[in-house]
Amino acid sequence: RQQEALKYAHQPATTLDGKRIEIAANLGGPAEAKAALEYGAEGVGLLRTEFLFLNRDAAPDEEEQTAVYREIMQGMGQHPVVARTLDIGGDKPASYLQLPVEMNPFLGIRGLRLTLMLPELFQTQLRALLRAGAGHHLKIMFPMVTSCEEIHQARYYIEQARADLSARSIEAATYCEIGIMVEVPAAALIADRLAEVVDFFSIGTNDLAQYTLAADRTNTSVTGLADALHPAVLRLIQMVIEAARPHHRWVGICGELAGDTLATPVLLGLGLDELSMNALAIPLVKQAIRRYTSVEARSIATHALALDSAAEVHAYLQQQAR
Ligand code: PEP
Ligand code: MG
Repeated sequence: RQQEALKYAHQPATTLDGKRIEIAANLGGPAEAKAALEYGAEGVGLLRTEFLFLNRDAAPDEEEQTAVYREIMQGMGQHPVVARTLDIGGDKPASYLQLPVEMNPFLGIRGLRLTLMLPELFQTQLRALLRAGAGHHLKIMFPMVTSCEEIHQARYYIEQARADLSARSIEAATYCEIGIMVEVPAAALIADRLAEVVDFFSIGTNDLAQYTLAADRTNTSVTGLADALHPAVLRLIQMVIEAARPHHRWVGICGELAGDTLATPVLLGLGLDELSMNALAIPLVKQAIRRYTSVEARSIATHALALDSAAEVHAYLQQQAR
């Protein structure tokens, strides 16, 4: 199947009735950009920028970051690249930041919470991203958002970063969409308000499942419980899409669920615009999309949303798989 799928990896992913879904790759570093294009990615839906910050003694400076982001932007040409600002904290510590030890780091200072507390670090990254985005299709995304206020603050820092670059006569991306990860239940529940202040949503089903089901994604005795196909998580995804629609915001998924072909009909049926995944999964997910009409997918999603457990959703989807 993988061989067969590879033949069509560069064709768009459209349902039997012609609805197009954007298929993008998740990147953990510049070395992965080439494979993403080879496997048929139409852009990068999640650039995890942490790779530049982990396992070292000091944070990378603006020049170093600019060079690395630029290499990725150039590798992707005119394809969109969604760069996520630093998502340190939780299971990804950085010793040089000298953060206080937390009892529950996943419920502590991580993602946007951390970068809003360290404006120097945040603005340096924003300047580097804006510089690398000049002449390319950059989008900026914030992780771990739970309120509109955090977005107002983050936008302020983007404006500051722009002003700094302009004062130094350095070229920056002229326009870039600003979006957020929806990975905390609170964000899904107030998605109608958040939709007023962002351009897009990308649902992080790894963390959304962890936080919704109160099951630590790194604790092997409960990771089985953190299942993104649990109806509770599917309902939150549905809420986000319905909240985004009146505001014409696009909604994607960049958690592992996006690359799981078992989930494909449900995700189609819920009405996702974009799916971003490990590049290796792209050919098979594109093939899976081509096997359903929107109406069939919608009926599969409606059925799955009404089931009682993740196990029931798995069993039902196995039965529906083509
Ligand atoms: C997620 O939480 O689903 C996600 C894509 O982000 P990460 O796995 O990097 O936390
Ligand atoms: Mg996450």
